[in-house]
Amino acid sequence: MRWENLADDDASAGPARTAALFAADAVTTRTFDTPEFRGITFHEVRARSIVNRVPGASRMPFEWTVNPYRGCSHACVYCFARKTHSYLDLDTGLGFDSQIVVKVNAPELLRGHLASRRWQGAHIAMGTNVDCYQRAEGRYQLMPGIIEALRDHANPFSILTKGTLILRELELLKQAAAVTEVGISVSVGFVDRELWRTVEPGTPAPDRRLDVVRTLTEHGIGCGVLMAPVIPFLGDHPDQLRATVRAIAASGATSVTPLVLHLRPGAREWFMAWLGQHHPHLVRRYERLYAEGAYAPKWYQRRITGQVHELATEFGIGPAHRGAARRIPAAPEPAEPQPTQLTLL
Ligand code: SF4
Repeated sequence: MRWENLADDDASAGPARTAALFAADAVTTRTFDTPEFRGITFHEVRARSIVNRVPGASRMPFEWTVNPYRGCSHACVYCFARKTHSYLDLDTGLGFDSQIVVKVNAPELLRGHLASRRWQGAHIAMGTNVDCYQRAEGRYQLMPGIIEALRDHANPFSILTKGTLILRELELLKQAAAVTEVGISVSVGFVDRELWRTVEPGTPAPDRRLDVVRTLTEHGIGCGVLMAPVIPFLGDHPDQLRATVRAIAASGATSVTPLVLHLRPGAREWFMAWLGQHHPHLVRRYERLYAEGAYAPKWYQRRITGQVHELATEFGIGPAHRGAARRIPAAPEPAEPQPTQLTLL
């Protein structure tokens, strides 16, 4: 594994930045026998840095990210971060789902970084590469220390997640929100349980994620929903879109932001293999729809975005641009594919 050659952990950074993030001899590998972690290997590292700068060319609505994990046991077949595992010479398929890198010193590193005179208190986005509330967080409990550090420095931040574990931090989030801008967004692309079981096998069910939105809202922490990914031919029927937006509205979400599935290298191979296995009749249609590259055609993106916005209006959800103010990515410009996207779709 090329541990010593890795500089940045954000998918948007790519492997080109080569200053060492952690030393090769600092890796401790563990497995746990509990059913929750069966088949998963954890690689504990002491990182050398934790606050990553998003490359200037990126259109991300934030400049700085913190990612305490790499790899994600939520195992979404479409996950864009799969590619980043290849930077470590790890497998981007099952390896991404089961070989999890844990930066065990993330909270102390962040606290030191925030205290530095050079740090200007910029917004920090989390959940931009892999889910910081994946199952590993239940054991390693890195996020409480991270949020405490942000709260103590009144540093604005946002979290995007599919993990219900975020509710463990309810009190901390309330404390942070009292002193700085806190943006929470939950990712729910569809509420179809059959689709969920096969395409997002390691995640909490969509209705449980919407319970997170409901609970946060009830406690005064507004929460948007990133309706992503909308999966062509499997999750884009008008009835499915309606059911999803209706459920999002019922959860009390402050915004809904639709995002159509994109298939960048790394994710594309894994997703297409899954499609061939589960929905072979759709393979040709996908090859045609994604013939131009990683993004569905503009007309398709426009259609989905328009439908979701109409439904949002019908069900009384606030306009998607409210989400941008909470540091949630705005709906993509259908006319122009984005070079980088959030992983948590
Ligand atoms: S899409 Fe998000 S939740 Fe799913 S595997 Fe990737 S990082 Fe994890």
